[in-house]
Amino acid sequence: MTYTIKTAQNEWEIVCGLEIHCQIISKSKIFSGASTAFGDDANENVSFIDAGMPGMLPVLNKECVHQAVKTGLGLNAQINKYSVFSRKNYFYADQPNGYQITQYEYPIVGKGCVKIDLPDGKSKNIGITRIHIEQDAAKSIHDLNPKKSYIDFNRAGVGLMEIVTEPDFRSPDEAGAFLKKLRSIVRYLGTCDGNMDEGSMRCDASVSVRLKGEQGMRERAEIKNVNSVKFAMQAIENEAKRQIEIYEQGGTIEQQTRQFDQSTGQTKFLRLKEYADDYRYFPEPDLPPLLLDDEYIENIKKEMVELPDAKKERFIKQFGLTPYDAEILTESKETADFFEQAATGHDGKKVANWILGDFFANLNANKLSLDQSPVTPQMIGELVDLISRGVISGKIAKDVFVMMWKTRQSPSKIVEEKGLKQVTDTSAIEKIVDEVLASNPDNLKAYLDGKTNLFGWFVGQTMKASKGAANPSLVNELLKKKLG
Ligand code: MN
Repeated sequence: MTYTIKTAQNEWEIVCGLEIHCQIISKSKIFSGASTAFGDDANENVSFIDAGMPGMLPVLNKECVHQAVKTGLGLNAQINKYSVFSRKNYFYADQPNGYQITQYEYPIVGKGCVKIDLPDGKSKNIGITRIHIEQDAAKSIHDLNPKKSYIDFNRAGVGLMEIVTEPDFRSPDEAGAFLKKLRSIVRYLGTCDGNMDEGSMRCDASVSVRLKGEQGMRERAEIKNVNSVKFAMQAIENEAKRQIEIYEQGGTIEQQTRQFDQSTGQTKFLRLKEYADDYRYFPEPDLPPLLLDDEYIENIKKEMVELPDAKKERFIKQFGLTPYDAEILTESKETADFFEQAATGHDGKKVANWILGDFFANLNANKLSLDQSPVTPQMIGELVDLISRGVISGKIAKDVFVMMWKTRQSPSKIVEEKGLKQVTDTSAIEKIVDEVLASNPDNLKAYLDGKTNLFGWFVGQTMKASKGAANPSLVNELLKKKLG
């Protein structure tokens, strides 16, 4: 289904591309030795380079290069063996040099491709245009004091990967799916923590609209620094609607930079868009071109972990999972590893049901992360086996799970100690059935007189009398024999 926005007169289509700034995971900054730790006191981690002191020279941090190449490989992209740093000149108080060191004509990573999975079950490929590496700016803080602005330089010089996509998005859902997929990939790779709320992954969206079937692109607006997947989707949708309204009233759209307002969900005007020329880019004289060789790239390829798409496919094949379940279980590497440990050697589909059901429900209810869980993967695998082997019923298993959660004991031990083993001894069940029939002569007569829908009631009474321990199919079988 193509997504369009219909008005009384027209049917409109969204054209959107994303630029995502990802803070590179690295102990020190991209051109200085200062720490990148998040949450330290303001201006704690600032070197002379980050503060733009005269006479200081940048030195490229190899770890940042390594991380960018790894990310490029994870996005199925071309790694450029020759790339160049450039100066992007602009004044802002959080940029003491008056320029940002970035890459322009020659980025470190070229064209790539990311597959996204959409809510309707379809998938789509999104083109990656490039990734370049650059330094982050300091952080201006305007809301501490009504008369003053503050600047925290801890962020100044932290390495960034700017990931630029083709204008391939046609709906807010597609952009949302991409951001989630990208976040999942960089987290698997360990190249960015993906925490949008802490600003380590920030999204800019370029949005334009056109009539359905129209070729070419109209003027676009760029929405800066959106800090959650939900907000990005909302910003794209509302910006598209704003532009449509202007066109339909006979107006035009100017290329401009806008800001997303969380309280209203709308975008608001920030400034007319700068063009590349305005920045007077030129090659950074303090850094030589960055040269990589095949061996370097091959060695990073060897470090690559299995990424979410490949893992999802394998889980579907190996454990018989549905695409939907496999998608959720592979979104984070931690969850995928937990599942795989629990499922190996057991019924994977049933293990998935327990993890996605009772297990996640308990984690969420107790606000625990996976590594704080009192229930281990081994315990879940064992629980599934106890049910498969007929030792306990599915109903009893639910109680065992609750006890596992409380006591951290293995399910076999709980079943043993609490005497929860399912009764599969026919003569023992027969005795209970006889008692149930003998103590309910009225219902027995009614049943024999033709009220056969009482059968289920007898099953229920027998199960109850056995405290849930009787094997339900044996109960059914015996009752049929006695009543039939
Ligand atoms: Mn940038």
